[in-house]
Amino acid sequence: MYVRTTIALMFVFGCIFSASAQDNRQLKAGAVAANITPPLGSSIIGGFRPIPATHVHDDLFARCIVLDDGSTRIAIVVADILGIPREIADLAKEQISKHTEIPPSHVLISATHTHSAATPRGPQAVFWPDKVSEYGRFLAQRISDGVRRALNQLEPAKIGWGVAEEPNEVFNRRWHAGDAGILANPFGGVDRVRMNPPRNHSSLDAPAGPTDPEICFLSIQATNGRPIALLANYSLHYVGGVNTGDISADYFGYFSQYLKQKIEAAEVEPEFIGILSNGTSGDINNINFQPKPGGKRYGRYEKMQEVALNVATKVHQAYADVKYEDWVQLGALQKDIELKLRQPSEAMRNHFDQALKLPEGKFLSHPMEKIYASRIAKLKGGPESIKASLQVIRIGDTGISAIPFETFVEIGLHLKAESPFKKSFTIELANGWYGYLPTPEQHRFGGYETWLGTNWVQIDASNRITAELLQMYHALHKNK
Ligand SMILES: [Zn+2]
Repeated sequence: MYVRTTIALMFVFGCIFSASAQDNRQLKAGAVAANITPPLGSSIIGGFRPIPATHVHDDLFARCIVLDDGSTRIAIVVADILGIPREIADLAKEQISKHTEIPPSHVLISATHTHSAATPRGPQAVFWPDKVSEYGRFLAQRISDGVRRALNQLEPAKIGWGVAEEPNEVFNRRWHAGDAGILANPFGGVDRVRMNPPRNHSSLDAPAGPTDPEICFLSIQATNGRPIALLANYSLHYVGGVNTGDISADYFGYFSQYLKQKIEAAEVEPEFIGILSNGTSGDINNINFQPKPGGKRYGRYEKMQEVALNVATKVHQAYADVKYEDWVQLGALQKDIELKLRQPSEAMRNHFDQALKLPEGKFLSHPMEKIYASRIAKLKGGPESIKASLQVIRIGDTGISAIPFETFVEIGLHLKAESPFKKSFTIELANGWYGYLPTPEQHRFGGYETWLGTNWVQIDASNRITAELLQMYHALHKNK
């Protein structure tokens, strides 16, 4: 194995590994965008009921970066899909390791969470290991081809990180409200918090959590300054506002396009790859729930263009200040964590039994009762627990953690605050896809993201995940 042999050699020759040899160390990088657009007719998921794709507004891509520090290689892939089921991420990693010797632990595969993409899930449409669908196999193949293509393009490179802020495009979408009428849940109970409340509702008190305005990014250039790739990270769910039936990469796609224009990389060869990864945005969206009267009305795609332009502009402003290094240490750690699946209570089961007896269109207390009844029914044939993949990556002074959930922003903020690295960020919906990850505190408030059938794993899962990731960060940070 490339990594192991080199580490062994470095150990043996450690004493004669002179300072000048260290100075000559050179980072290498390559990046490509692999087209993953699904065929028309594919099921678009993102809403509660799938709809067939009738048009491609803009193509979907798996954007891939490979970095090589001379002894360790890592690959980061950000794909324009709603989520990446673990079996598809694993299939891609298996293919990558077979052809490139980059071990699965050193490959991060994440989803942007665009809601205008085809489902890569198999026929079960739940998250425990499923038969890989035809589109899922295509996706895995395109991702592994993308990493191999990026590897083919490896060239001497330099890297640096930057930070920008865009506080105006992120809103916590969970609100404390005083009116029980907007707080009902599908289980016959009343929550304390409402997700996506009616705008300017008189009973809205305050958001139930924070936002993270930060846009962290890593910029990678050839040694002569030609841009190769930029990986940014922002904690915003998605924007939306597409035509029904459209395939689109949402604002993530526009970000790539606008950034390329702003840094004047349109003519660059090989193609410059600008990437926006999703941070921790489980409870964050782009909707101002208390807008001032007379605000702008947006046409299709207008809002996502505006958001992408604002985010790309902020990154571009910080881009000039990036300090580059010709070599940084790379590293990665991966670990599975076993999490118990929640089970419905007796009261919940009785409620659903009653609800299912009602005719179409009728409900006991909430219009989504039947949808949740059928989701929860799937737990019956499922396992008692899942093994979720946790991963941390080191790129010099920067730490990246990967979580396979739609992760609440508090979790990302906590990891940023406690990380031993100079700069850290989290990429959510990476290496798997298991629904929402609220904190135990947010579970107590209730609300959509905490509902069984939207969230599936034990209530304290986020505490266990955070503790594990911080340990992994420290282990990676110590490892020189
Ligand atoms: Zn979502």
